[in-house]
Amino acid sequence: MALRFLIAWVALAAVAPISAAAEAPARELQLTPLVAEVVAPPRAVPGSDGQRHLVYELAVTNMTGGAMRIDSLDVVDAASGKPVATLGPDALEGRVTPGARRGHETAELSAYQFAVIFLHVAIPDGDALPARLLHEISANFELIGKDMRMLVGETEVIATPPVVLGPPLRGKGYVVGDGCCVSIRHVRALLALGGQLFLAQRFAIDWEKIDADATLVAGDTKDVANYHIYGEQVLAVADGEIVAMRNDLPDQVPGALPAGLPIDEADGNFVVLDIGAGAYAAYAHMRPGSLRVKSGDGVRRGDVLGEVGNSGNSQAPHLHLHVMDGDSALASNGVPYVFDAFAIAAVDEAGTEDFDKAEATGSPLTLAPRSPPSQFTNVLPLDLSVVDWPD
Ligand SMILES: [Zn+2]
Repeated sequence: MALRFLIAWVALAAVAPISAAAEAPARELQLTPLVAEVVAPPRAVPGSDGQRHLVYELAVTNMTGGAMRIDSLDVVDAASGKPVATLGPDALEGRVTPGARRGHETAELSAYQFAVIFLHVAIPDGDALPARLLHEISANFELIGKDMRMLVGETEVIATPPVVLGPPLRGKGYVVGDGCCVSIRHVRALLALGGQLFLAQRFAIDWEKIDADATLVAGDTKDVANYHIYGEQVLAVADGEIVAMRNDLPDQVPGALPAGLPIDEADGNFVVLDIGAGAYAAYAHMRPGSLRVKSGDGVRRGDVLGEVGNSGNSQAPHLHLHVMDGDSALASNGVPYVFDAFAIAAVDEAGTEDFDKAEATGSPLTLAPRSPPSQFTNVLPLDLSVVDWPD
């Protein structure tokens, strides 16, 4: 079997002269009725749970003229041959996405069908981060009439540390909406743009704010001003230069996403900030007319860029923030980032459904307090954490 062969090869390579070890590992050549490739090589982010998280996508195509079913997928450390994550049939049913069309997940692919498998691998603190990954897929093919195991989708794991940011907002009680790594609205926002797949929002957060009663909104939920985050000042997360912005789009009436919005209005009023080293911070859905910066301006960390609003493809006031590897908020690849200092005061352990209900109705979040608040340095606050920024 290919995996055993690989392990044998690695064992040989360990004692082979350096010149031989520098060559690419030769794997058993296998005719595979499935092809697989990562959308972008994964890059780990340290989370507020003490683990490092790899969030990436494997694009697969059934090369046969009959149906196939993916039964298991092991994410394998290419050097050791050991699995770092195992997905069985239940997990795959929720992660294999034909046509990358969110909401249509199934582990069964029809003839010649393309799908994207959305992957999340958590590496516990203390375990080494693999330098390369392979994917051992076990699948059944209708036309072949038997199960096949294949090693596919080899990729490097990018070792570059995540970008370090300062606070995007001031004060306490900010909720991480649709954050890393199990919520799906950002993590699976794969777009085909200009004939290519992009996932700019891979590590995006929709920030909202609670009051002392743990609500996101008080009073009429159709009035943007009743959301506690509305109008809060949005801050530069690092020194940099404004490379794109917009300031003229109206706020949406909360409660539903706008219909028929052109793609170039999805971010509403936005800022793209070049923070150096090939990284760009994208801020979206800001309040009309609130932007204080224009393209070409240099800003310092902590400078006010504008205010939180509800413009663009937004159904309630919030600050959408992500970091990406290009200056387009859509046609770029989302990269990990961390905040240099924050506290977590509580976590909504009741999940996204509870958060959505609180946003739509004004019900309080179901919070599990962290008392006293836990302090964090240089990690990403994970989904549904309630974050306090330092004074
Ligand atoms: Zn968002």
